[in-house]
Amino acid sequence: MRRDNTAWGATPAPSLAWSDSGDPFSAQFEDVYYSRENGLAESRHVFLCGNQLPARWQEQQRDCFCVAETGFGTGLNFLLTWQAWRAHAGRSGRLHFISIEKYPLDRHQLATALGAWPELGELAAELLAAWPGRLPGQHRLIFDSGKVILDLWWEDVSVALPDLAAHGQCVDAWYLDGFAPARNPSMWLADTFACMASLSRQGATVATFTAAGAVRRGLEAAGFNMQKVPGYGRKRESLTGAIAVPRQPQTTPETPWDLDATPRGGKPASALIIGAGLAGASLARALAERDIEVTVLERGTIAGEASGNEQGVLYTRLSRRHSALTDFALQSFRYSASFYRQLFAAGQLTPGPDGQLCGSFHQHSDEQELALMGERLRDLPELAQVLQAEKAAAKLGVHPARPGYWYPDSGWLNPPAVCRTLLDTPGVKVIEHCGELSLHSNTEGWQAHDMRGQCVVSADVAIVCAGSHSAALAGLEWLPLQRIRGQTTLLPESSATVGLRAAFCHQGYISPASRGCHCIGASFKLQDSENALRAEEHKENIDKLLAALPQWHDTLSGLETSSLEGRVGFRCASPDYLPIAGAVPQRTHFLQTYAPLRKNARQFIASRGNYVPGLYVNTAHGSRGLTSAPLCAQVIAARICGEAPPLSRELLRALSPARFLVRDLSRNRI
Ligand code: SAM
Repeated sequence: MRRDNTAWGATPAPSLAWSDSGDPFSAQFEDVYYSRENGLAESRHVFLCGNQLPARWQEQQRDCFCVAETGFGTGLNFLLTWQAWRAHAGRSGRLHFISIEKYPLDRHQLATALGAWPELGELAAELLAAWPGRLPGQHRLIFDSGKVILDLWWEDVSVALPDLAAHGQCVDAWYLDGFAPARNPSMWLADTFACMASLSRQGATVATFTAAGAVRRGLEAAGFNMQKVPGYGRKRESLTGAIAVPRQPQTTPETPWDLDATPRGGKPASALIIGAGLAGASLARALAERDIEVTVLERGTIAGEASGNEQGVLYTRLSRRHSALTDFALQSFRYSASFYRQLFAAGQLTPGPDGQLCGSFHQHSDEQELALMGERLRDLPELAQVLQAEKAAAKLGVHPARPGYWYPDSGWLNPPAVCRTLLDTPGVKVIEHCGELSLHSNTEGWQAHDMRGQCVVSADVAIVCAGSHSAALAGLEWLPLQRIRGQTTLLPESSATVGLRAAFCHQGYISPASRGCHCIGASFKLQDSENALRAEEHKENIDKLLAALPQWHDTLSGLETSSLEGRVGFRCASPDYLPIAGAVPQRTHFLQTYAPLRKNARQFIASRGNYVPGLYVNTAHGSRGLTSAPLCAQVIAARICGEAPPLSRELLRALSPARFLVRDLSRNRI
């Protein structure tokens, strides 16, 4: 399903009622979320034992064991699986739990439901802290230092499963938990079972609480061998089964240019990354968490280019309508805010010098838009609230000129500290001062050569994360990268500014001071490659700040701009302002395959895309790398390792480097 240009708002609310004993019940489906007698024991019996878990984790030493569930509900099945995983799985390997839910609970409802299970209290608290609420889309939650991944797809199962099934086999165990089939037939359709068969790996199993004949027959018709087994408690029977022969990936109604024509090999053992900024560092961490040996090569120093500013704000955008730009901005914001919160909690970032998740206020001039969005945000309090200037002043510590959005989970970070922390991960080696590098491939994989032609590193896969220098590598000169000069200004903290308690975005941005200065900015100069600081750009930064905070006039207007310090960086952006993250297409082959799009952009072409084996790119994060890089790292790591992706195909296509070729063909420009 395409969301683009449809109205944006919270996901539909569950019609939740609570029994006298405090159990959740769906008034819409007239069914319980779990057994009233003993939810924990029933879930363990039906779903874990029904899939022979945890025994299979110990027998089959898989690198990543994937469970997929229809109906996340209160997350009880997930928490029980996570608890069992912690107790039984070895130190190596990861648990990937994908769950699809059309009517997600809000945080308060979730807390109430999970409060019933003290033995799950610690895990429930972690889930609640990362909970995306009813923000539409797909949400990746990471636990246990990357060893447990939870993907929440806030979609109808008939939308999410075909989207996932296009990627092919990745699921090892299915939990079917979508209310009684008679009360909710939408969860038990033949198409859903067919998608499950396409997603199932060899040996995948399935378990469900129901013994309904239609469900058994439907799963059998899709290719599962099913059997009735004793149910829990008063339920006489339930169903378990296993895939007989895994199926081919599902065909898709849209031309599958984003999918690989040839299946990728297994997970690589080694990766080389070019670029030690936020894009490269985030990816290095994501790959190392998957036990891949990573070497990061940097022409200069860690965070020496676009990721080198003193302070950056976690930024997102809101809009009344869905678009790839807004949806990605919101989903990557939620992911990155949770990612940094965990780094602070683990002591890997230090509050103060490395940043502060103190919230951020984004001033907005269109009051009509704010009123409308304020309505929609009522259901998404954990994401943002509309605040009038007076209320915003209480959060910010200074009085903004206008109303705007308050993002409680946002804040500021020191990007170089983030890069260093992410690169300081076991399994990651960094080589700085490499100078200009070139990339070469042979049957063994990829090699990075230095300027003398010497091979510096070879690895199974290569990922180009070199900002605007990316186009100079590995035949990527066709990528439409823009290089945009941005100058920041270090504004000395003063008695006027010391009260600022949260980050503030206006035409520019400012954060509470770090090391005695506020890093404000930034200018935006296209086609300007000069490195030198300019007094007039310091003045521009200060003028923008004064327009938002006129009460600082007396303090700031007297500053001698020519003596201010700052930094010039060059952002790398794409023409549509989305990052470029994904596999690199084989350009000539790709253009041949999809040549008919020149005549008819809507034509369906059944062929999948041709991609260069083992080559990926992660760039064009603009000035939003703090926000976008962590989720893009997950996108690429999933593709490299053959895991289910963290985003819908619509968003993966919007990030794909190949999108520019498809667009140019469709406009007959290439
Ligand atoms: N597994 C859950 C747990 O551990 O708490 C209980 C799931 S509850 C029995 C069934 C869930 O399916 C509900 O949360 C409901 O909102 C969801 N659901 C119902 N119809 C759906 C649909 N068409 N697509 C996705 N989710 C749906």
